[in-house]
Amino acid sequence: MAGPSVEQVQTRLSGVRCAICKTSDFFIDSRSVTPDGEWKGVCKKCFYSFPVHADMEFYQRTQPDIPYLMKTIPCQKCEKPGVSLDFRIMLSVREAYYFVTCKACGHQFPEKSTLESFE
Ligand SMILES: [Zn+2]
Ligand SMILES: [Zn+2]
Repeated sequence: MAGPSVEQVQTRLSGVRCAICKTSDFFIDSRSVTPDGEWKGVCKKCFYSFPVHADMEFYQRTQPDIPYLMKTIPCQKCEKPGVSLDFRIMLSVREAYYFVTCKACGHQFPEKSTLESFE
């Protein structure tokens, strides 16, 4: 699987806040780390857990809207549109985030998803 490492994901999760206790300290449950890219993120404080989807190649192949959407997301730093998708999380039933990297300047940031369907 091509994608981010567990360490990279853990570091970047500090860009969002826990849906329950609002802290920003998370770890990846090491038992959940498998090559299929379906991992589990856990809040260090309250142990709230949520799915982390690390295999974005497969996701973007099966969701044709996503590559198009990524071209339209503006960078939070240089404001140029166009990012690459590194991984995504479902923080709660109403909060999904894409973790992206700006193609122009390399800035990494979480982008709240507006596309997810919440079934
Ligand atoms: Zn928490
Ligand atoms: Zn940028």
